Amino acid sequence: MDKNIYIVKSKEIFDAIVVGSGISGGWAAKELTEKGLKTLMVERGRPVEHRKDYVGEGIKPWQMPFRGKVESAIVDEQHYVQQKCYAFNDATKHFFGNDKDYPYSTPKDKPFDWIRGNQLGGKSLLWHRQSYRWSEHDFTANARDGHGVDWPIRYKDIEKWYDHVELHAGISGSVENLDILPDSKFLPPFEMNAVEKEMKARIEKKWKTRKLIMGRCAHLSVPAPHHIAQGRIQCQTRNECQKGCSFGAYFSTQSSTLPSALATNNLSIATNSIVHSVIYDPKTNRATGVRVIDAETMETREYFAKVIFLCASTLGTTQIMLNSVSESFPTGIANSSGALGHYLMDHLYGAGASGRVEGFTDEYYSGRRPTGLVMPRFTNYTEMNPNFLRGYQLTGSAQRQGWDNFTQADGFGADYKHNIRNAGSWIFNLGGSGEMLPRYENQVSLHPTLKDKWGMPQLHIECELTENDWKMFENIADTAAEILEGIGVKDVKKRIEAKNGWAPGLAIHEMGTARMGKDPKTSVLNGWNQTHDIPNLFVTDGASMSSCASQNPSLTYMALTARAADYAVQQLKLGKI
Ligand SMILES: Cc1cc2nc3c(=O)[nH]c(=O)nc-3n(C[C@H](O)[C@H](O)[C@H](O)COP(=O)(O)OP(=O)(O)OC[C@H]3O[C@@H](n4cnc5c(N)ncnc54)[C@H](O)[C@@H]3O)c2cc1C
Ligand code: SF4
Repeated sequence: MDKNIYIVKSKEIFDAIVVGSGISGGWAAKELTEKGLKTLMVERGRPVEHRKDYVGEGIKPWQMPFRGKVESAIVDEQHYVQQKCYAFNDATKHFFGNDKDYPYSTPKDKPFDWIRGNQLGGKSLLWHRQSYRWSEHDFTANARDGHGVDWPIRYKDIEKWYDHVELHAGISGSVENLDILPDSKFLPPFEMNAVEKEMKARIEKKWKTRKLIMGRCAHLSVPAPHHIAQGRIQCQTRNECQKGCSFGAYFSTQSSTLPSALATNNLSIATNSIVHSVIYDPKTNRATGVRVIDAETMETREYFAKVIFLCASTLGTTQIMLNSVSESFPTGIANSSGALGHYLMDHLYGAGASGRVEGFTDEYYSGRRPTGLVMPRFTNYTEMNPNFLRGYQLTGSAQRQGWDNFTQADGFGADYKHNIRNAGSWIFNLGGSGEMLPRYENQVSLHPTLKDKWGMPQLHIECELTENDWKMFENIADTAAEILEGIGVKDVKKRIEAKNGWAPGLAIHEMGTARMGKDPKTSVLNGWNQTHDIPNLFVTDGASMSSCASQNPSLTYMALTARAADYAVQQLKLGKI
């Protein structure tokens, strides 16, 4: 990457500052620079260059001293929270935040596992790339049952922005014409294996309102010309993605949005620059810039711009806002509503069922497909359940035991070698992603005394599972087991991991805390992701979400960000902000 784009000190008044360089920040930078705005991206972490800095890429388990496991001393000292993420291993650990450097607190009885990727590219390097549109049903959820505030937008407001981001990012999937899971602008889907095809046929024959479809993911199953022009090529189905992918075959800031932003010559980047707070001018009622602490030297500096986009991830953004206090906003910038920090949500993960599929012993598969299957939501949509509110979608896959992941199998000697060389039974698995209700009590605040090593007040996170959540967990496990047993799967076992240590945060879909809403008295942002209080201050990451639906959220952050950038540029040109 051209080193001239990195800046440290600058007296320039930029057109725009984007805080954060992950999925949302990358999109904000792309859209704003392509619309002609001189933009500064401010990122707290180190620079990560596409290809060159994917230091774990291509490393095989046998080339790592503990076959992929991370040395306990390092885990205990630096990664005691991050190690709970399934993608954390010796070849990916450098993309996860250092828990010692980024401390936070929770009440003892309300754990929250905050998974972070603090570097250029953020968690776009680590994500699992599952990409689903939200539906009209999701944008009307709060209005329907009265939990949370009504979204100020509907599906039709965001539809063309989904098209826009999908065509650029590259989303593979199958056209299904489902209202609950609208189709994207798809690249061809990945293929189901023989057992999955059979399970799909059995499920759809038995239950007319339940479908099993291929997972939709941000992978170039077949790249379009504009992907190739960016140096991105076809996915090789190695499923090594979280180590970084030199083929650029999955969407990340580095592979997709950053090259576009850089091509405009309108982008500068300040890395190792921790945004401490937003600078506010009460005379003009505008955010004028950001105060930054240099992560390496501890020096402080300021950057200025006409419009500011906060994209520092859900809780990162809210931490900055809470820390931006002034006479006008004593409890955090743009917090006249008092809603800032509240209505934290995450998806309900870790419940489901799995079992053994008889037969198919002559069926094999090659490669490691980088996505599973999805059963779009039917609970409390086409099949009502009076015991709890909202619903969930199920994800799953069929795999041969002993055929993959054998590096983690127990054993030694001849038996061990025999077992790992021979494929075992087929296992079919279904697990849920459930919708948590937006609740005022689930919240983050600044700790009154604890600070990190740079002097930033630590976040105190309080998030509790409720009766509704537990009933949904039970129903997910029961329904998954009912489906498996109903299609002839044997030895079905249910699981609810929240009973054994799974805590909110671990779905890594944290949302809310600076929600959108129609009423400035009860919400932080309007329908354009613009703060109600300060016209040139925008928040377009997960903090803005008014409810959390049951689909993975990042595609919606991308679409909201592109939409907000378009609006902000229009407003800037009209002289309104
Ligand atoms: C293993 C894993 C699997 C996932 N799978 C999926 C999936 O399949 N589908 C899906 O939709 N989502 C998935 N996610 C979640 C997804 O990664 C996030 O939703 C997404 O990255 C959020 O984008 P963001 O830009 O808001 O935040 P991030 O990508 O986290 O980027 C935020 C950036 O802001 C920077 N920052 C924070 N604070 C400051 C500050 N004070 N000053 C300056 N910079 C700051 C951070 O360093 C970071 O680079 C997954 C996440 C992980 C870790
Ligand atoms: S599966 Fe595809 S996107 Fe993932 S690392 Fe392999 S080539 Fe890259």
